[in-house]
Amino acid sequence: MDVLLLLSWVFYYFININGFVPIVAIIGYVIFKRNKKYTDIVLMGILLLFFFMADFYPIFLIPIAISLIFLIRKTGLKQTLIVLLFSSFLYYFFFFATYGAAYTFMSKSFIFHNYLINSLITFSDTSANAIVCIIYIFFILLFLNLNQKGKEAGKTLSIAFLILLIGAFASNAYVNDLNSNLISNITNPDISSPKTSRIIILAVDGGRYDKMLEADTPNIDMLTYEGVLFDSAETIYRTKTEPAFSSLLSGAIPKIHGVKNNLYVGGLKIDALPDFIDTGMYGTVHFKDIAKPDWNVKTVSNLEHYYDFDEELMKLVMMDLKEDRFELYIIDFSFVDLVGHTWGSDSIEYLKAWEKTDILFGMILDQLDESGLRNGTTIIIMADHGQSGMDHGFAIMESEKHIPLIFSGKGIGSNVIDEKVNILDLNPTISYLLGKRYTENVQGRVLLDVLE
Ligand SMILES: [Zn+2]
Repeated sequence: MDVLLLLSWVFYYFININGFVPIVAIIGYVIFKRNKKYTDIVLMGILLLFFFMADFYPIFLIPIAISLIFLIRKTGLKQTLIVLLFSSFLYYFFFFATYGAAYTFMSKSFIFHNYLINSLITFSDTSANAIVCIIYIFFILLFLNLNQKGKEAGKTLSIAFLILLIGAFASNAYVNDLNSNLISNITNPDISSPKTSRIIILAVDGGRYDKMLEADTPNIDMLTYEGVLFDSAETIYRTKTEPAFSSLLSGAIPKIHGVKNNLYVGGLKIDALPDFIDTGMYGTVHFKDIAKPDWNVKTVSNLEHYYDFDEELMKLVMMDLKEDRFELYIIDFSFVDLVGHTWGSDSIEYLKAWEKTDILFGMILDQLDESGLRNGTTIIIMADHGQSGMDHGFAIMESEKHIPLIFSGKGIGSNVIDEKVNILDLNPTISYLLGKRYTENVQGRVLLDVLE
């Protein structure tokens, strides 16, 4: 294994905001602690709680900025400069750590400034970025203040904490509202006979809709031509893999299924499609995180298979497809997302990743033809979320929220539909097409327009 690649991936996961906040808190505590007091530890705990509560919703950056200005004023120029220096060092450290992955990837002709600019403008928490390092500054300043003696420090901290608390509550209210407009109030029809024998969901992780249209993808083009294309399909907030697939499986928004970011573990706690449909799920560890213990889940490590992850995954899919094992196949292709995270989703490489993925789609279609299963199969092409620049997560940009959604197969119409639909609608549509029941918490509507 390529050592540089391995290191890159270790750092790649390390820089995830939710992962490094506690680590920085501890480092800051150790570096700047002069007097040992239990109240400091309690304060640190409360602070971390605010962060997890707000979960880094973009609006939470505003109270962070306000409290930061307040803390810098109270901390003094010399200490602020030390902290700034430390933070810049960390920024460049992460920058070059992740740059390694980008450099070793696909070709050596990587454009340095492209990556630099991306890292300056991204707000999300999955790549090297400058915003994240501002939060470092914030934490370290806070710990400097924790160790100031007397009433002054107490006053500074109280105000900073109050701003953060209000920010945390405001963020939660804001986000709950973001998803509620996706819920459908249409009553779904009774389910009768199955309309198809099996459904294969080809999910392109981090697949931007506009880039799918731009890329040279003959297999996707053919399925689009024969089938139904939704021109205005949306994913849920946050625009991340685990929340999105949890909504697809349960038909509910994250507030109901409880998976709000990619750090969830322990399986879904509510009724979901694989509970009553024979399902095979193929993807990264994200699928293991949200799956219940009795589900059929096959994962490939993207640490070991950075270049050929999807090809490895395909081997598992093909074996099961040959035996016609499941009624529902959910395959999460990761290559497009990985390329977006290192090269940016506006790059030529990102388009090439779509083209490489399309070839794999062709292999699945060939296999279906060969085994005579094509007629009884509905194929759904979708994405869990898009990307903006080299990232995704806060749905600030349209290209993160807007996802491809194509239905193709026997009994499926041929049409382009402009109407707004979302990932919640996919869930009852799967139940309806397979002639099963609806999930208990379903909040979407059956997309009856897909039928001929
Ligand atoms: Zn991603």
